Amino acid sequence: MTNYISTRNAAIKVSSYKAILEGQAPDGGLYVPEDIDLIKLNYHDVIKHDFKGMAKVIWNRFFPDYGKDVISELVEKSYNNKFSNGKITPLTKVGNDFILELYYGPTAAFKDIALSALPNLMTRAREMNSFTDEILILAATSGDTGSAALHGFSDVPGTNIIVFYPYGGVSETQRLQMITASGANTCACAVKGNFDDAQSGVKKIFNDISKPAKGVFLSSANSINIGRLVPQIVYYFSAYKQLLETKSIKDGSKVNFIVPTGNFGNIMAGYFAFQMGLPVNKLICASNSNDVLTEFFETGHYDRKRTFHRTTSPSMDILVSSNLERLLHYICGAEHTAEYMKTLTEKGEYQITTDELAKLKSVFIGISATDTQGSEAIGRVYQNRNYLMDTHTAIAWSCLEKFKDKAWAYSENGEDAEYTNVVLSTASPYKFCDSVLTAIGADLEFSEQANMIKCQELTGVPIPAGLADIFGKEIYHPDVIQTSDMEEYVVNYAKSIGV
Ligand SMILES: *Cc1c(COP(=O)(O)O)cnc(C)c1O
Repeated sequence: MTNYISTRNAAIKVSSYKAILEGQAPDGGLYVPEDIDLIKLNYHDVIKHDFKGMAKVIWNRFFPDYGKDVISELVEKSYNNKFSNGKITPLTKVGNDFILELYYGPTAAFKDIALSALPNLMTRAREMNSFTDEILILAATSGDTGSAALHGFSDVPGTNIIVFYPYGGVSETQRLQMITASGANTCACAVKGNFDDAQSGVKKIFNDISKPAKGVFLSSANSINIGRLVPQIVYYFSAYKQLLETKSIKDGSKVNFIVPTGNFGNIMAGYFAFQMGLPVNKLICASNSNDVLTEFFETGHYDRKRTFHRTTSPSMDILVSSNLERLLHYICGAEHTAEYMKTLTEKGEYQITTDELAKLKSVFIGISATDTQGSEAIGRVYQNRNYLMDTHTAIAWSCLEKFKDKAWAYSENGEDAEYTNVVLSTASPYKFCDSVLTAIGADLEFSEQANMIKCQELTGVPIPAGLADIFGKEIYHPDVIQTSDMEEYVVNYAKSIGV
């Protein structure tokens, strides 16, 4: 039976539902499956099912203590009638490559796939623990987690959620999605800092206070929660299934996945898919000009002491990628992981060993692209292929082009290796409409709403239903605070919902 241990200490061991309920391990580490061999399977036994069937097989592997019947019920509840595409994550061919579209959920970003699931996993974990405390979820967001989490947890009994987002650091659409969230148990608050400030503020609250008020229990909806990560594994299998169905690959051939990366949650799910046995060649970690991971995968040196760039792909504007710690655990072991994380906190950098770097490089490649390169990619792919991408997908696309230009450099024998490439598309172009319009050479209108309508008229790509109705909604969450006031804010909120 798969148990969960802290990335920093194997002696901290809990069942899967405890890991989901707690979010983060008490020593500051993240929960990972204790024995990665226990999650291995024959991928044919996954891809013979539809999306929900695949989810059931995969969730059962990771969360065995829920039981098969409960998992079935939770998967149905998570994905019934929530996604506007029947395949949930459809694959589209663009030129000779493929794009896996992950944005057909209620808030039009890939985070919906996990955040439709997490509240269901969490409320069931609460029942299994005979828990009576109210759960208070804290989430830091670079934009998309916020709206997806506020939507996913909206009016879920026994749960409450506060989302912190960087003031001025999210797109207008993302901001409107959050401040108009209407669930009575939801709250969004801007903090005067960037995403990393918001995230370390949340982490600090977890470390400082375990109980913010009587009858209230803190947990996390960020991808540090394993219940958030596992539902994302499913679409890697879904991509492979669709490649086989369209006869685009031979069964067993290996595929490259190019993943627009911020907090390393999405691509970490890809690593789990690879560990489970999915035929993966390389996982390409695409970054914007916040290229800390690009340097890391090249040199093994992680250095957060660099200028923070605000880019047009704000969900990737991150210098401390939390989920990388999970990968470190499997590559470097608990002892080194604990040491590196300590050095990161104290010195802002760490260096892994040569052997560890070689292990990383056998699967991962880090590539980065600038705003300008991303914008050019949107324009080019739209002109040449009549396909419209958002700014995050465009960074990944641009990284794919760079990879193909020097694919020889990455193949073992120095010859040009031909692999099938799947770019993960993480958001609808309408979430970042002004940047997308500019990229395709159109002038901007006077408002975000007018931009969306113009984009629809120009491109024929329909505005997602969940985005069409955010304008003119009532604003429920106007708060803006200093980072230093986050703890007090949480305690006050907790008191209002506690006993
Ligand atoms: C969150 C997000 C990312 C980054 O995903 P991680 O799991 O944090 O690496 C990329 N693109 C979009 C649109 C996102 O919302």
